[in-house]
Amino acid sequence: MSIDSATSVPQKLRPREAVERMHEYHPPLAGRDGLRLDFNENTFAPSPRVQAVLQRIAADTLTKYPERHHVERIVAEHFDLAEEAVLLTNGVDEAIHLLCETYLEPQHEVVIVTPTFSMYALYAEATGARIREVQADSTLQFPYQRVQEAIGPNTRVIMLASPNNPTGAVVETSFLLELAAAAPQAALLVDEAYYHFHGESVLSVTATVPNLFVARTFSKAYGLAGLRIGLLVGHPDAMRFVRKVSSPYNVNSVALECLPEALADEAYISWYAEQVLQSRTAAERVLTQLKVPYWPSHANFILMNIGGKHKAFVDALRRQDVLVRDRSSDPGCDGCVRITLGTIEHTERGLIALQNALKEIQWQPES
Ligand code: PMP
Repeated sequence: MSIDSATSVPQKLRPREAVERMHEYHPPLAGRDGLRLDFNENTFAPSPRVQAVLQRIAADTLTKYPERHHVERIVAEHFDLAEEAVLLTNGVDEAIHLLCETYLEPQHEVVIVTPTFSMYALYAEATGARIREVQADSTLQFPYQRVQEAIGPNTRVIMLASPNNPTGAVVETSFLLELAAAAPQAALLVDEAYYHFHGESVLSVTATVPNLFVARTFSKAYGLAGLRIGLLVGHPDAMRFVRKVSSPYNVNSVALECLPEALADEAYISWYAEQVLQSRTAAERVLTQLKVPYWPSHANFILMNIGGKHKAFVDALRRQDVLVRDRSSDPGCDGCVRITLGTIEHTERGLIALQNALKEIQWQPES
């Protein structure tokens, strides 16, 4: 039977209603040649110690199913956590998916703040749960009071990124703790994907707060986005259930070999984070000089408002081989473009291209 005739068969197989209804997510990945300032990745490289591991991985490693547990022990020790509190995941994406799978029924509600990382809504939608989106106001700061008001008896999952993507805004630790206490029936996920560029964390608090979860990624500061490795931390009593829905082989062997060295090379991560912080200062200075409105960021990117010419701006940068991300279709982000900050050298290249692009499109600050 040919593939064509197979697809022309009347479709009797229906997905779950929630899956039929859910949005699709298509990140603009095609090609991505050039200076990649579009996905908030490390623009440089992983630690040289990780590169050395990659050189010596034996083919034998690939014939075996991956064993995550001994690496989880190393991770727990590194972060001073109980081993049962730690689950390595296939990126933070999987951590979000697992939490939604563990806690959500269709009659439940999920609270998120918009604009934010797309995967919260996507995985929550797939369960059929109702999503309550709390829109930030024009400052794009975290809307504390309205988040509190959105929580109700049916709230079962709350997902917040601090720093948030694409805004760069953070949530105060005291509020996170109050929220966890005020909604004990809900899993509160604090996504600390951009932790290294901010420095505040509630990771250690997970040991004493039964409904608090923290996610960390190795895709950003560590430069391992292609390996797909992340970390979910929660109270051991709660993690027991999350672990039940995870595949025992969710993290691949190459990622597991690399992770201990990536963690051990703290000097490399400090160096990279420092490069980003200096880049952030440089970028803010240039945007201020050019009168381009932007939101103060605690992460390795800045969201700026280019206005009506946002698409022409992104295209003009692409012609100079610099990729940035058009975020103008995010809620409350009309005209916005996000630029990743990497090493100082890469950021300087990006900022020169940015100035050229603004000239080319004859951009004027809005009065
Ligand atoms: N969380 C946030 C807030 C992000 O912005 C991103 C990536 N853009 C992720 C998680 C994804 O992390 P990972 O690559 O570990 O799936």
